[in-house]
Amino acid sequence: MTTTHFPWRAHTADLPSVGTPADSLRSRGEAGGPGARLAAVRIQAETFRREFATTGTPDGITTCDLVTLPYPTRFGLFRASTAIAPFLSITNRMLVIRWRESNGRPRTLLFEPSDVDRGQHTPYFVALARRTPDFVRRRVVVEHGTVLGHLARLGITPESVDYLMFDHLHTQDVRRWVGTTTYQADLQARPEAVFPNAKLIVQRDELAAMAELHPLQRPWYQEATYRDVPPEAFLPIDGSIVLGPGIAIVKTPGHVFGNQSLVLNTSTGIWVSSENVIATECLTPEHSRMPGLARWSREWQQEVILNANSIESTAGQYNSLILEKTLADRSQVDSRFLQFFPSSELTAAWTNPGTAPTFVHRAIVHEASSAER
Ligand SMILES: [Zn+2]
Repeated sequence: MTTTHFPWRAHTADLPSVGTPADSLRSRGEAGGPGARLAAVRIQAETFRREFATTGTPDGITTCDLVTLPYPTRFGLFRASTAIAPFLSITNRMLVIRWRESNGRPRTLLFEPSDVDRGQHTPYFVALARRTPDFVRRRVVVEHGTVLGHLARLGITPESVDYLMFDHLHTQDVRRWVGTTTYQADLQARPEAVFPNAKLIVQRDELAAMAELHPLQRPWYQEATYRDVPPEAFLPIDGSIVLGPGIAIVKTPGHVFGNQSLVLNTSTGIWVSSENVIATECLTPEHSRMPGLARWSREWQQEVILNANSIESTAGQYNSLILEKTLADRSQVDSRFLQFFPSSELTAAWTNPGTAPTFVHRAIVHEASSAER
């Protein structure tokens, strides 16, 4: 078992935090097991939902496609899918959220700004690439755009970005975004921060996990790339917060212990984004036409189909999904499905029969009213 030494680890308690704690979602240390916590989560979610809807809406939400890549069907659709295709396709997207603080100061958050080139060095992807001939890879991996390309198109300067946030840090290498304190041999450089004013909002549990990974976690992280990240680049949080008008970060442990979801209040109602499921129909599997899902959900009396690549806490992930399911409004396009926006969304591909989603969002819809600030 290897432990990565993080010079910043001792300092995370001293780092400033951000946002207003969402008290209604605070863990009350419920007695009993996961079933008791599930019942508590449903009530907490209803309370927070009502409070959150009164906080306003952001000025802008833009969805930017990054990359479509293969992912094992048995991870993405857990035990429910009966598709014979061993892989399905998921599309990673970045959300650009803009708002003004009450003193008028503009703020910009990038949610899921994956450095796709660097992500390929994740142990899981390295092993997969070793088994996959180049011509196959070229056919199944589609790069749509880069973080910096999208920002340039939107007229957003890197200096104006305030916050970076991922639902969790699987596959992420943020060194080019926030810089490092020393020379990086694999990059053959000491990267200057592309986003010199941005802080990475992360659950303290996620930082703790990366300092000493469990075997269930190891394939998915590039923990060594965090060793020389300057401590002040992190904005660690504990639990759920309201960050801005109609913008909340909600702790949703399960997929990883330090998992967090982005919750947005918009002109089309409340949206929730994370990787706890890969398709919104996994939250209402009774309406899924993908082979296996509706029947599995009925037979096992389970109302969600987990994204299960790292089943760190299966019952916890289920409970977090019920929280997310309760917070999200119904889709205005098709009310059978919720406004849950998977940060890695299942995408139909002819190479993957039996995995075409019944419904996809592709983007979050929000028309900011000019009367609102
Ligand atoms: Zn993950």
